[in-house]
Amino acid sequence: MKIAVLPGDGIGTEIVEQAVRVLKALDLKFELESALVGGAAYDAHGHPLPEATLKLAKDADAVLFGAVGDWKYDTLDRPLRPEQAILGLRKNLGLFANFRPAICYEQLVGASSLKPELVAGLDILIIRELTGDIYFGQPRGRRVSPDGHFPGAEEAFDTMRYTRPEIERIARVAFEAARKRDKRVTSVDKANVLETFQLWKDVVTEIGKEYPDVALDHMYVDNAAMQLVKAPKKFDVVVTGNMFGDILSDAAAMLTGSIGMLPSASLNSSNQGLYEPSHGSAPDIAGKGVANPLATILSAAMMLRFSLNQAEAADRIEAAVQKVLAQGLRTPDIYSEGTTKVGTREMGDAVLNALA
Ligand code: NAD
Repeated sequence: MKIAVLPGDGIGTEIVEQAVRVLKALDLKFELESALVGGAAYDAHGHPLPEATLKLAKDADAVLFGAVGDWKYDTLDRPLRPEQAILGLRKNLGLFANFRPAICYEQLVGASSLKPELVAGLDILIIRELTGDIYFGQPRGRRVSPDGHFPGAEEAFDTMRYTRPEIERIARVAFEAARKRDKRVTSVDKANVLETFQLWKDVVTEIGKEYPDVALDHMYVDNAAMQLVKAPKKFDVVVTGNMFGDILSDAAAMLTGSIGMLPSASLNSSNQGLYEPSHGSAPDIAGKGVANPLATILSAAMMLRFSLNQAEAADRIEAAVQKVLAQGLRTPDIYSEGTTKVGTREMGDAVLNALA
């Protein structure tokens, strides 16, 4: 099993270090190889995703990724900015399915911004299509407006588009995932306004017929945003396009209390995947040793489950995280009165102890 380890920038290096310690503590044989990515790679090699890093990622069974980005790179040309590394990896590895579980741990119910009764026991999975939609659709650009409300004015435009096969494959991923859970899929669209999402709805409905054991319903994205904060436990698997998924999955993240708790996985059709916490590089706390490493440690557990076929080891890590929370250990982002505040490394130590 070969794992490419790409810590990246900011807190990325601190949190990935803890996840690697946890992986090494398992009785499994891994080949772990690290490389620079993001701003760190730009500083060293002049590009956020150097050829060697991309090759390492392509040759690996899975990529464990930290986070990239820092405000100091915001003035670089767009193709050289750290965040382009993620887009490049997604594109080159064909990572079209993004899994974002939002689980509210019993011990952290108080950290959610919603009332405890709304989030206690929350366990939903948001599946976001990752390689299409308005983020990648061509044409895009800036120009002099040829028509519309202000002809002759400067304008910018992007193109929302999805092909049938792109929708079919993400729909299948969602139905397969639902089969292993509560067997319910909510497809989120904006079919009332957008042609792209009328096709989305039609295709998801067709694919749904292949899965008679899974219940399918459709929801407009505005309603989904409302339901997510009104009655989030009503959902099981939510499947949606790239842009809606981007927004809804961050909203779902906050239901659970802290973005520092949320893992994510991005998979291609051969189950090769990139595993990363849902948060960014948090430059505001980088280097202080206070970042929560649990989202990254839980991402490593997802990696074991989805790409490396080691479900038992994944269960062990998840149980260890639960145990540490039950012991009352908290990094500052999830701290509340009556619990014990710890730093990044201490949290890693605690997970290692719980594993043992
Ligand atoms: P962010 O997720 O880095 O931080 C948002 C807030 O959450 C900050 O207050 C931060 O301190 C806190 N936070 C994040 N992770 C935490 C953790 N593990 N423990 C404790 N607190 C945590 O988002 P941002 O501030 O909008 O972006 C910072 C940089 O990260 C930008 O350059 C952005 O482009 C980049 N970014 C990268 C990724 C990625 O690598 N996948 C994702 C999002 C943002």
